[in-house]
Amino acid sequence: MVHVLLIEDDPGIRTAVTRALLARGHAVDSAPDGLTGLQMLLTQDPETVILDLGLPDISGDRLLSMIRAASGVPVIVATARDDEGLIVQLLDAGADDYVVKPYDPAHLEARIRAVLRRGGPTTDDDAARSALKVGGLTIDPARRTADIDGRALDLTRLEFDVLAYLAANPGRVVSRKELLREVWQRTDSARTVDVHLSWLRRKLGDDVDDPRFLHVHRGVGIMLEDAAAGSA
Ligand code: CA
Repeated sequence: MVHVLLIEDDPGIRTAVTRALLARGHAVDSAPDGLTGLQMLLTQDPETVILDLGLPDISGDRLLSMIRAASGVPVIVATARDDEGLIVQLLDAGADDYVVKPYDPAHLEARIRAVLRRGGPTTDDDAARSALKVGGLTIDPARRTADIDGRALDLTRLEFDVLAYLAANPGRVVSRKELLREVWQRTDSARTVDVHLSWLRRKLGDDVDDPRFLHVHRGVGIMLEDAAAGSA
C-alpha cells in the first residue's frame, strides 16, 4: 500500500485515477489545484505525489520547486506533451519521474513503485550504504553526497543516482540502456541519459576531449574511472 497524493484539476481524471489506485489497494488523497495540493502535502505526508503540470492556480514547474523546497517526497509529473526537452528540464528541477497523458493506471503504478524503490530507504545491505571511492571521487550513498579530492559536488538527485550507479560499477562500461533501466527504471528516452551525463560531466569538471572521470565508449556506453589516479 502506497499513500499517494494526486494533484489534478480535471475532475474526470482525478476520479478515475483515484478509483484505480484505490482498487489496487493504495491510499489516495487528491487536490484540484496547486495550493490545496501543497497544503495536503504538508498535512498528509504522502509517500508519492502525482503532479499534473497544467493547474489553474499555479504553474506545475513552480509548484514542483515549492514541493522540492518543502519535502523530499518522490514526485511524478503528469504532462500532456511528450516533449523530451521539457521532461529533462522537469527531471532536473527535481521531478523523479513522469507519465505522459493519457496514462493508464497500471503504468502509473509501475512508475510509483520505481520511484519508491529508487528513492526510498531501500538499502538494507550495509555494502550499498558505505562510501564508494573511484580514485579521487568519493560517494556516500547514505548521505547522498559526493566529492572530488575533498571538494563537494552540487548534484541533482538524478545526477547523484547516475554517478552512484557508475561508481558501484567502476571500470566497467555501462550502457545507456542499463542506466535507463537501473537508474530511471524505464526503457525509453535514451537522450535523457545523454543530457544528464553532459551536465554531470560539467559538474565533475571533466574535459570532453580528455575526461578524468566519465569515459565514453562510442556506441557502447560510459565508464567511470579516475584517469588521474591511474586506477584500473
Ligand atoms: Ca490539468
